[in-house]
Amino acid sequence: MTPNTLPQRLTSTIIIALAFSAPAWGKTPVASGTGGAVATISEPASQAALAILNKGGNAVDAAVAAAATLGVTDPFSCGVGGGGFMVIYLARENRVITLDHREVAPASFQSDAFASGGKAMDFDSAVASGMAVGVPGTVRGWHDALDRYGTMSFKQVLAPAIKVAQDGFKINDNFVALVKENEKKFALFPETAARYMRDGKALPAGTVLRNADLAKTYRLLSSGGVKAFYSGKLAQAIVDSVNRPPVAAGVSVRSGQMSLADLANYEARWRQPVRSSYRGYELVGMPLPSSGGVTIAEALNILEGFDLKSMPREKAEHLYMEAARLAFADRNAYLADPEYVDAPVAGLVSKEYAARRRELIDPTQAHHHAQPGDPYLFQQDPSVPLRPASAAKARLLSESAHTTHLAVSDKDGNIVAYTFTIESWGGSGITVPGYGFILNNEMTDFDFTGPHPNVPEAGKRPRSSMSPTIAFRNGKPAFTIGSPGGATIVTTVLQTIFNHIDLGMEMPAALNAPRISERNGQATSIEPGFADSMQARALERFGQRWDASAEEIGAANAIVFNPDGTVTAVSEGKRHGVGSALVQKRGH
Ligand code: GLU
Repeated sequence: MTPNTLPQRLTSTIIIALAFSAPAWGKTPVASGTGGAVATISEPASQAALAILNKGGNAVDAAVAAAATLGVTDPFSCGVGGGGFMVIYLARENRVITLDHREVAPASFQSDAFASGGKAMDFDSAVASGMAVGVPGTVRGWHDALDRYGTMSFKQVLAPAIKVAQDGFKINDNFVALVKENEKKFALFPETAARYMRDGKALPAGTVLRNADLAKTYRLLSSGGVKAFYSGKLAQAIVDSVNRPPVAAGVSVRSGQMSLADLANYEARWRQPVRSSYRGYELVGMPLPSSGGVTIAEALNILEGFDLKSMPREKAEHLYMEAARLAFADRNAYLADPEYVDAPVAGLVSKEYAARRRELIDPTQAHHHAQPGDPYLFQQDPSVPLRPASAAKARLLSESAHTTHLAVSDKDGNIVAYTFTIESWGGSGITVPGYGFILNNEMTDFDFTGPHPNVPEAGKRPRSSMSPTIAFRNGKPAFTIGSPGGATIVTTVLQTIFNHIDLGMEMPAALNAPRISERNGQATSIEPGFADSMQARALERFGQRWDASAEEIGAANAIVFNPDGTVTAVSEGKRHGVGSALVQKRGH
């Protein structure tokens, strides 16, 4: 750090904060204090977690309570019809474990599920179909997490969600916007249309929405446990909805081929996290089949070789974008379900490989399109794993900004970072008749055509981007962060870490700052208003260029574990409506 460049960086940070972040700052949900903490994108969900913490539940109990409530208030992002990834820190044992409860392809699934004659089918028709539905993993995940590391039963943790589903909640503008975006898809499925629309149009904001069917489903789980979902009447209803989608008269969509055995055989997986270090922090994230942990580790390893603190902000941000571009070139080419593909993870996350990738960066000029590197040379034993016969084409899938993320900690210091989803907004669009939840379209996270490690296969889990992350410093939790947003999840988590650690922003500012998502596509994704900013102008001088269609990126939630033993929960002040950050005992 040189004495005269740091103030320059700070000055530009302040100007940019005033220009872009300040208006929302006042509204950013931030809560500091002691005891447990929670940050979610929904007030009822955060309240559900807090109620469970106040009843003596731990972070795992509270996370499931919040997730179940999000299934009610945010049914287009997540729910029991989907799957997810949970990172759990067990304070007493000082140990992190991850729970993969990603959806799997049914046993009948074929590699050409979304292609005909080697040509990929249209994405929207692939989404709104029974074929897109993977075997849901959420309930199995909740059960396994509670069973092994929770202290409460389904009955206790689902009670707050049942109450919200029964009593109803007021839908906000964001909810209405999501229905509007999905009017065509929802109209295909009368059960879904009837719940969220009137006469083919979204219900108005302020409508109190109840979901007695979902309350019934949660009650079934409360009394019958995990089996009530994966066998019996509910399982049959899921299979029927996939194999004969309940469509409106005259409509036809592709059906799937899911069996009762697919549901009965569904297993979640406990996996070792991806670990990496960054400027004195230890980062612990989600391993494959999520690409999140590996891609973030590679990008940070690349960035670590630059003295970012000594640079003007725009130069540091240019390097952040270039590191993300290189890491995405590898992510897009190599990563997939580890039970099917021997991906070169050790090479990708090695510091030596990052040093080689770093040499490709021009600190003054954007690269625009990066090729995947050769991480095989950096495996401990370079002959393992086998190299693919032909290099996969590095493609960017049609993934956009769906999903939800929540963070919970408890008074004993346990932490849960949990991202879960039904894939697209409104998933496949298919509501299971009489049960009140929407089925996922997670199978469209496969690459539709190959050769590629992430092509569809029976029993395989499609590659994900979900990135629940916990950072440690000196062996103690420092912060936890995660976000929705398809492939932009990776860059949102990466950029927030970069903002916090490298640009020195407090977590609320780090999270609030305009998001810039470079994923080695045609152009960098940005948020509305950014293209006209001074920050954008400064980056354009490095040759960076922006996607013309700006969209809100992500909806992050974080908790900071302060050195004085207090905790600070942080949510979004403007994205996805507004989030909710709470602590058990508020301090100053
Ligand atoms: N399907 C995405 C993934 O697993 C998450 C859904 C989304 O945010 O688009 O990465």
